[in-house]
Amino acid sequence: LPTARPSRYASALEALKTVYGYDAFRGDQAAIVDQVIGGGDAIVLMPTGGGKSVTYQVPALVREGTGLVVSPLIALMHDQVDALRANGVNAAYLNSTQSPAERAQIEREYVSGQLDLLYVAPERLNSEATLRFLERGVLSGIAMDEAHCVSQWGHDFRPDYLALGGLGERFPGVPRMALTATATPETHREITERLRMPDAKHFVASFDRPNIRYRIEAKTEPRKQLLAFIRAQPEGSAGIVYALSRKSVEETAAFLAGNGIDAIPYHAGLDAATRSRHQSRFLREDGVVVVATIAFGMGIDKPDVRFVAHVDLPKSVEGYYQETGRAGRDGEPAVAWMAYGLGDVVQQRRMIQQGEGDRAIQQRQQQHLDAMLALCETVECRRQNLLAYFGQESGPCGNCDTCLEPPEVWDGLVPAQKLLSTIVRLKRERNQAFGAGHLIDILRGAATDRVRKMRHDELSTYGIGNDLSEQDWRSVIRQLLARGLLVAQGEYGTLALSEASAGVLRGETPVGLRRDVIGRVSRSAGGAR
Ligand code: ADP
Ligand code: ZN
Repeated sequence: LPTARPSRYASALEALKTVYGYDAFRGDQAAIVDQVIGGGDAIVLMPTGGGKSVTYQVPALVREGTGLVVSPLIALMHDQVDALRANGVNAAYLNSTQSPAERAQIEREYVSGQLDLLYVAPERLNSEATLRFLERGVLSGIAMDEAHCVSQWGHDFRPDYLALGGLGERFPGVPRMALTATATPETHREITERLRMPDAKHFVASFDRPNIRYRIEAKTEPRKQLLAFIRAQPEGSAGIVYALSRKSVEETAAFLAGNGIDAIPYHAGLDAATRSRHQSRFLREDGVVVVATIAFGMGIDKPDVRFVAHVDLPKSVEGYYQETGRAGRDGEPAVAWMAYGLGDVVQQRRMIQQGEGDRAIQQRQQQHLDAMLALCETVECRRQNLLAYFGQESGPCGNCDTCLEPPEVWDGLVPAQKLLSTIVRLKRERNQAFGAGHLIDILRGAATDRVRKMRHDELSTYGIGNDLSEQDWRSVIRQLLARGLLVAQGEYGTLALSEASAGVLRGETPVGLRRDVIGRVSRSAGGAR
């Protein structure tokens, strides 16, 4: 018969104090721990930094047996196990980086009941051999971290998570927990269903991160804007800059470094030694700025990140929330800054159109992008918009750009009609379609070679938009695209009418536009570099 690990602590609070040195539980922690120690299931939605780890580790120390932790992040696993061991907890992990001998040793420890906590990657639980092995010991609980990975709706779907739904049947009587820092109502529902936890108690924390100041500005010269933003932060601020491509990461890091910022790149194309050197510099030294693809940051626990900057538009609000959530985990003021422009909208729409995946997947991606665009273009409180996305109501926050400097709204109906009718004419009269640049040239009456060669100066709309600057026009087009009043098609992002365009042409759809503010740089806590 398997041996159970005897409980180490009489009470949860005793474990909390002894192992972690904390005086008290925070927020929902005590209630969650109670539920699990009592043998019940729990679904925990808590933002990053909310303190999820304690909620599955403490029950493992109090209940008999070994707590199984399912985590997709090998790096995180490693760090957590090291930290637990340093505090006298008998924790271990099983993963593919280990030698067969190391694995055998840990398996023996588990079966003989010596482990408090055992971390495994989800793909392991997809194997019958692992399940049989787990049956040879005693589990005190099963914690499924990053549970949103089970959601096809979300941005992080991992097929291996689907198999976790069978663990309840396989290990009856063992309390299960699903934990995540991403939780739209839709994802929440999918976690409950797919992990088969109908009787779980739900713990939904507020997703507000009040110390993070949100700022989104129109993109004109992204690197210069980024540099100005970073220079306005207090001396020695550590930060993360997210860019979409490796190339953009490299170039941005080089640009910042050339301008006196201690910036280093991080992406999957760098060799392992460089990556780990850069990561440890970021963690250990002051004032390092990591320029990275979104792969960076998952599971990186650096509490004093003072800013997170995006120079490319994230694909979803969940992604944006998670990435910006890496700022200010210590509760001190922090800034989430983003530069976003017409090019981002065109590029992401194109990536969706040309991406793999069926119609349903494309539609989902489109909806994710639309929500992200709505957040970018809102003239109301950013935080309110963000929290509403997670199904949480709130009032204006007073700590975002739109609250601090309410944007001006102007009537864009006439410019929108000028643009749309130019597109209509080109299509009807000449069966032609163009991207934003050339359309703006026509509207502004620019005498470019292309305009002359194509005789677009003979169009009746030629020059009718010269009351607006090129930048204004880009802003108009961006906002029309963001609202679906215009669509960008094909490889070159040529602009075309959408079904909703008709209402604009008829003057029935109001077109209130946001006046862009560029380069109004934020100071999070005074002082400048
Ligand atoms: P999450 O996994 O939700 O992102 P963590 O478990 O990593 O959050 O906890 C975030 C931070 O809060 C950590 O630095 C942790 O040490 C701290 N923390 C968690 N619970 C408590 C508590 N009860 N009292 C004090 N600090 C806590
Ligand atoms: Zn606000």
